[in-house]
Amino acid sequence: MTCRYEDSVYWKQTYNAENRLAMVEKLDGNCAAGSAVESWTFSYDGNGVRLMEAYWDGSDTTTKLFLAGGAYEVGDFGGQSESVKRYYSMAGVRMLRDENGLQYLLTDHLGSVSAVLDSSENLLSEQRYLPFGGVREDSFVDDSINETDFGYTGQRNNTYIKLIDFNARWYSPSLNRFVQPDTIIPDLTNPQALNRYSYVVNNPINLIDPTGHKFTTDDASTCPPGDSKCWGWDKSSSISKIDKPEIVSREDWNAYEPGSTGLQADTEKSEGLFGPDNEQGYMAYPGDLADELDQITIHHVGDDQFYDPLSIQIREMGGGFYDIGYHFIIGRDGTIYEGRDLGVRGYHAYPNSGNVGILWLGDFVPGYDISDKRYGQVDPDDNYGPTMPQINATMQLIIWLDQEYGIDDLVGHIELNSTACPGANAMPYVHILAELVE
Ligand SMILES: [Zn+2]
Repeated sequence: MTCRYEDSVYWKQTYNAENRLAMVEKLDGNCAAGSAVESWTFSYDGNGVRLMEAYWDGSDTTTKLFLAGGAYEVGDFGGQSESVKRYYSMAGVRMLRDENGLQYLLTDHLGSVSAVLDSSENLLSEQRYLPFGGVREDSFVDDSINETDFGYTGQRNNTYIKLIDFNARWYSPSLNRFVQPDTIIPDLTNPQALNRYSYVVNNPINLIDPTGHKFTTDDASTCPPGDSKCWGWDKSSSISKIDKPEIVSREDWNAYEPGSTGLQADTEKSEGLFGPDNEQGYMAYPGDLADELDQITIHHVGDDQFYDPLSIQIREMGGGFYDIGYHFIIGRDGTIYEGRDLGVRGYHAYPNSGNVGILWLGDFVPGYDISDKRYGQVDPDDNYGPTMPQINATMQLIIWLDQEYGIDDLVGHIELNSTACPGANAMPYVHILAELVE
């Protein structure tokens, strides 16, 4: 569906090569002759999870980021009123934390968000839904929920474009159908399922569709804990824990053992093993890691052209390090590589004790960068920064680290020591990441 007419307005939808909704334009005329007065542009990760929404109001553009599968939402990214919303669930109740503090999102039997309470359990707002997801306007409940986008059956309801994001597809509650056909026909024996635009085989009173691909009566069965497409819909467990992200092990990238002879420079070892006369040396933390780790520092590779973990390890050990100095390396495609054992003090900043080092592959200092050429991304505006998959992977990693070890703060290297690292093009992202571990 590329043209939609609702409430006397024409809306034009554009799809990308994967049939994801790429843009919605609000037109001043019909779809053939009208021009856009406002637009919303969406981008997604490789799994089709929405990462970014850019809103153009006719003159200016504001950006919203959705990170960790939507559990974190950054409004007006890089703008004057930047804000972070953080979602999680506990004992089956979804919660939201933002600048207004903790709020509870109460749901009806279909998981639709029907009321928002503050942390003292005062009612802030509530709304009810029509069977196909429209918001019911009646005299008993006349407030609408503005605290969150989550609404009908727990999906993100983008009221401003009159569509609901069902992950795989977008749905129009007033037209009672998806705006994209399903790529999967879930049940060949059910003729209703053959209508690839229909919603829950037209039985919205009893059925929901958490992924946009398959209707069900039980969202837990199709949204297992940890599935990033179903963030927060973990009704089955009492406390939703974040799964450890996938990490490429040292073995898999053929890392050298720490202290490998022949690699490490023989003279002027700057690190060496920890000992009474080498207190800054390579040292496994003596205590419980949850007590030891309290900080994360973000770095970039810079312009020295080493863009894989093995080359970085060889360079660093050649420079006298006992092992690669960083605990994690994150590629442009969002791959997370294991670096120095997390149980060993890093060698990447000062102070290193309790400090987890994360290295982003890339060069984020504005200006002419060799890395730009290397990645075929020469950027005339010098805006070369971390990629969305890279940020999203970092997000999942730091949330997991925070959950497991209780991280108190996250900084860019420049905030600790005299360096340009990780570059001015990376620091806005570092500041957002910092808000998530506080
Ligand atoms: Zn650094």
